[in-house]
Parts: sequence; C-alpha cells; structure tokens
Amino acid sequence: MKLSLIAIDGPVAVGKSSVGSLLAKKLDYVFFDTGLMYRAFTWKALKFGIPPTNEKELSQLAGITKFDFVSHQEGYLFPLIDGEDVSAELLCPEIEEQVSLISKVAGVRQMMVSEQQVVARRGKVIMAGRDIGTVVLPWAELKIFLVASVKERANRRYKELLERGEKVDYDATLADLKRRDGIDTHRTISPLKPAANAIIIDTEKLSLKQVVDKIYNLAAKLS
Ligand code: C5P
Repeated sequence: MKLSLIAIDGPVAVGKSSVGSLLAKKLDYVFFDTGLMYRAFTWKALKFGIPPTNEKELSQLAGITKFDFVSHQEGYLFPLIDGEDVSAELLCPEIEEQVSLISKVAGVRQMMVSEQQVVARRGKVIMAGRDIGTVVLPWAELKIFLVASVKERANRRYKELLERGEKVDYDATLADLKRRDGIDTHRTISPLKPAANAIIIDTEKLSLKQVVDKIYNLAAKLS
C-alpha cells in the first residue's frame, strides 16, 4: 500500500488544522480543512437570508454554488466560493452559530462530499473534517481520529481566540463547543464518529509536536 491520502477527523477545537498543516509541511502534502467549505457555504446562505430550517432552498443553493481551491500559503489549500475569497469572515459569530445546523442538510453535504473527493484526486492530501474517514474518503490509507476532553478543547479555543485579539468569554466558548459537538454527533447524515479502521489519538496530554510526530511515524510506515 502506498500512502497518498490521510483523513483527520475529530470534534470542535481538537487541533485538526494545527496538526494537519504541520504534518503537511513535514510530509510535503497539501492540507485541506473541509470545515472552511461548510463555513463559506453558511456565509452564502446568510447572505441570501436562507434559514437553516429551509432544507429545500439550501439544497438548491448548494446546486448553484461553485467551489475552487487555491493555495494561500505553501501547502495550505483554501476554498473560493463562486470565485470569492471569504476566508477573513469565516470565524464570525453568525457563522459559528449556524454552520452546524446548515451542515445537517443532505443536499448540502452531497455537494460538499463530491467536491472534496475531487480535491483528493490530486493525491498527497491531508483532509480534515468530521466525516472524512467514514464518508468522503473511506479508501484513505491512513485515518486518524483526534480526541480530547471538552474542557481541554474549550481551553485551547479560548486561548486561540484571545491570541487573535477577540473579546471572548470562557463559559460561552465552552457552551458553543458543546452545542456544535452535540449537533455534529447526533445528526442523521454522516455524524461525527471514527471510521472502523481509524486510529484514535487522545491529544489531552500531548503537545502539538507530539501529536504530529505520532502521525508522521504512522505515515512513514505506510510510505
Ligand atoms: O471544523 P470546523 O469547526 O471549522 O467546522 C465547522 C462545522 O462544519 C462543524 O461544526 C460541522 O458542523 C461542519 N463540518 C461537517 N463536516 C466536515 C467539516 C465540517 O459537518 N467534514
């Protein structure tokens, strides 16, 4: 087996992007965070004023949405939605509030999955999300599922937001994380769960470097 695709799944703020982007540099792979696509689509749905409950219109909107993918920084792939770069807006509170609800919609997920499978055809891709190992790339040679307690993840997200200079409240961060995890885990279509052959890594007491090294060593055995 020759390694070409690495799936990294896990709950909110478990470190998928930090781990995936560092690992991509080490392996000379491309890193792609699929959450950015769901966030960009949510940005568009908000712009059109479509609520998360209107599955029909959201599916129609998905049908007329075009994604392109560009490298911003070396090895980091970003989505453009209908040719537009909205990456600066994707962490705003409105998107944070709606993205998990909009991500439940079957028509939205179908479109996302086929676009993500096209990205994977490039080969040497590390793709992060919730359903990469189970639904998007079930044939990925290496599947990682990252876990950490909800408190640890809330701490990490809180620090990250503070460092970005945003006004944050720890309790609100914790509550939002629990809310999104709940929706992502309990939805009917493609719920957040490890693939049967995923390797589960508990990152609670590990440094970022230790997690990256662990996956790098697993990847080296398959290369
Ligand atoms: O990873 P991130 O927190 O940016 O993802 C935002 C939301 O997008 C998640 O909470 C989830 O609802 C949705 N998502 C998904 N499937 C993916 C990636 C993200 O449902 N593969």
